[in-house]
Amino acid sequence: MDALTQARHRMAKVVFDRLGIEDAVLRRIFELLPRHLFLDSAQQHAAYNDAALPIGLGQTISQPTIVAMMTHALAPSAGDKILEIGTGSGYQTAVLAQYTPRLYTVERLPELSRRAQGVLESMGLRNVIFKAGDGSLGWDSWAPYDRILVAAGAPVAPEALKKQLAEGGRLVIPVGGRDSQRLLRIDRVGDTFRETDLGECRFVPLVGAQGYAIEPPRSQDAFGF
Ligand code: SAH
Repeated sequence: MDALTQARHRMAKVVFDRLGIEDAVLRRIFELLPRHLFLDSAQQHAAYNDAALPIGLGQTISQPTIVAMMTHALAPSAGDKILEIGTGSGYQTAVLAQYTPRLYTVERLPELSRRAQGVLESMGLRNVIFKAGDGSLGWDSWAPYDRILVAAGAPVAPEALKKQLAEGGRLVIPVGGRDSQRLLRIDRVGDTFRETDLGECRFVPLVGAQGYAIEPPRSQDAFGF
C-alpha cells in the first residue's frame, strides 16, 4: 500500500470509529477517493486529516466525518436521482457519483463549479451534471429527485427543495443560524414531511432567494480600518 492509500485508510478508520456506524460501501469509497485532488497544493498535506479546509472564496471542503454522516443519512439506493446543493470542492459530489449515474449538482460560485467539474473529469467521473446558480431554488428541470443533499446552512428548509422531492424521497439539510445549525433529515411521505434531527453541525451559509442574504461588508472593511 502506498503512503496516500495508507493515509486514506487511516482517515476512513477515524471517521467510521467516530461515527460508530457500519457502512461498508461508504467506507470503501472513503478508502479509495483521492481527497487531496480536491485541494490546492498548499492544503494537500492536510487532506487526510478529519478536518474542514479552505478552498478559496471564503468556502470550505467539508470535514470527512460530516460528508460520511450526511451520505449515510441520505442512504441513496443505486440509481436514485440525486440533487446536491453546494458543490464546493466537488469531494461530496464524487462520493455521491459512486451511487448513481443520475447526479445533478448546483454551486452558487461559478469558479468553484468549474474547478470541481475539472477535478471530476480528470478522475474520469463523467456522470455528473453541473450548474452554477442559486441552489436554494433547487433545479426544477430535472425534478423530482429521490434524494437531495444540501451542503450549506439554511435558515429554514427551502419550500422549493421540498417540492422537488419525489414521493418517498429524502432531503438532508443543515438548518439554523449562520454559524451553527441542526442537521435535518426530511422524508416526504405523500404530501407530508417528517423531520428527524441528526444533531449539531457547522456549515457555511446557504446564500440565495430561499437562503440567507449575501453578507454585507463588515464596517472595518468598508471604512478601510
Ligand atoms: N460539500 C462541499 C461543501 C462546500 S461548502 C465540499 O466538501 O467541498 C458549501 C458550498 O455551498 C460553497 O461552495 C458555497 O458557495 C455553496 N453555496 C452557498 N449557497 C449556495 C446556493 N444558494 N446554491 C448553491 N451553492 C451554494
